[in-house]
Amino acid sequence: MGTSVWEQGPAWVAENFDSVNPATSEVIGTYPVQGRSEVDAVVERARQAASWWAGLTYRQRRTRLLAWKSHITRYLPRLAELVHNETGKPLGDAQLEILLAIVHIDWAAKHAGRVLGPRRVRSGLIAINQASRLEYQPLGVIGVIGPWNYPVFTPLGSIVYALAAGNAVVFKPSELTPAVGGWLVSSLGEVIPEQPVLQMVTGGGETGQALALSAVDKIAFTGSAATAKKVMAACAENLTPLVAECGGKDALLVSADADLDAAADAAAWGALSNAGQTCVGVERVYVVDEVYHTFLEKLAERAAAVRPGEDREADYGPMTMPGQIEIIEGHIADALARGGRPVVGGLASIRRPYVGPVILADVPEESRAVSEETFGPTLTVTRVGDLDEAVRLANASRYALGSAVFSKNAKRALAAARALRAGMTSINSVITFASVPALPFGGSGDSGFGRIHGEDGLREFSRAKSITRQRMRPLADLTTLQRSEKDLNRVLRLVTLLHGKRYR
Ligand code: NAD
Repeated sequence: MGTSVWEQGPAWVAENFDSVNPATSEVIGTYPVQGRSEVDAVVERARQAASWWAGLTYRQRRTRLLAWKSHITRYLPRLAELVHNETGKPLGDAQLEILLAIVHIDWAAKHAGRVLGPRRVRSGLIAINQASRLEYQPLGVIGVIGPWNYPVFTPLGSIVYALAAGNAVVFKPSELTPAVGGWLVSSLGEVIPEQPVLQMVTGGGETGQALALSAVDKIAFTGSAATAKKVMAACAENLTPLVAECGGKDALLVSADADLDAAADAAAWGALSNAGQTCVGVERVYVVDEVYHTFLEKLAERAAAVRPGEDREADYGPMTMPGQIEIIEGHIADALARGGRPVVGGLASIRRPYVGPVILADVPEESRAVSEETFGPTLTVTRVGDLDEAVRLANASRYALGSAVFSKNAKRALAAARALRAGMTSINSVITFASVPALPFGGSGDSGFGRIHGEDGLREFSRAKSITRQRMRPLADLTTLQRSEKDLNRVLRLVTLLHGKRYR
């Protein structure tokens, strides 16, 4: 296998760049690096598409989005092949990713009208003469900047909810996965040919920057916290709002009463699948003392049997992004230098472009392998006195994205889940929150802010519009220059009666 192209990452040739298969170095496609003026022109076209799209009814948009869903479902094998080629992930993983995205398109299309559509709200006694109405209107054009690790599921988490809310979208896929981005955009064009409600711009950071500086009404960014800061700075220029879905350092907590086989399975899959290149991948495990050894044994047994490769039987593929390997190597080296113990693999697991599974025990909390996002097939396992200590250590992170708790005691597990600062927690499974479209997805701290998915995800791409209509003259008119003392006193008496009661 030739690694020359792979080592350079995407090959930038003048104003074009190549998308490259990370396992074979084969060039998949060549794309233009689009600059400010090209991006602005695309956003301008999107503006027209947005007004057409916003003018459709929820039902009309729903029908079209469901047609897109059905198109993607029927062409799933073709799209999965493309994801496999462009990211290196096994075909089965690519299929799973698309399957999850389909569930989200379905939910967003079917629920947008209910969540965002006009509704009456109670006006309250003070404004009893008013009819009050609330609706959520589209923002206009949304710029979506995506990562490469789940090139279908992740950007669609923003794109689909933005479209369902009545916006047009300009999508800049990662420079590592433009072919997948292009497929998604042209597939939508096939089922919605009237207007370009979803368009693509291609390029790297500079193109993303141009999109953030353009006239879009909001940016939905998914990527690292470091890039999010640059995007936020660009958004500040025009006060463009931003939803930021960034990295994580997710912890899995194992209670003494956990099903240890299930916990070991989940930890192994959560940490190693997709070569650990998952924002909500498991990177840390905290295990209660009594079951520590048994759990570690079970986990080691499973992890040792896992093999990366390019062939169809491989458990996961190569590292998609070349530069990540140095970070992974640095984290393992730092953990070992600080007294960490390799249980499975170690520095020798790095065989470019592959990284074999690495399980590390007794790694100090201040080491990089515990405190920073590794984004590789590595996992630290730490012994704790009880579940409370596990929660405390899990929370002592700059990141707060996903998490998992394993316990057979539903009450105990729920208490731990609620105490975890992470935006999402799965009990007795991992990452399952991402497969429930009604549940919002997002984090806090270095994991970003705002939410995609679910009702919150729809509202993220909308602006609340409040309308009151005066139905009759008020009993006491307070909003007039002719306001009388008598009217004001009457209302004050009413408010005192309603709200002045002592509470104990
Ligand atoms: P990245 O931050 O390097 O790039 C993300 C996107 O931002 C790419 O499209 C890139 O071209 C663009 N970009 C780079 N510089 C930019 C700039 N200055 N202005 C505007 N755009 C710019 O991230 P990545 O390597 O593509 O993805 C991996 C990261 O994404 C990890 O940290 C992972 O945890 C995170 N991630 C988060 C989620 C989530 O939903 N929270 C999902 C997937 C990945």
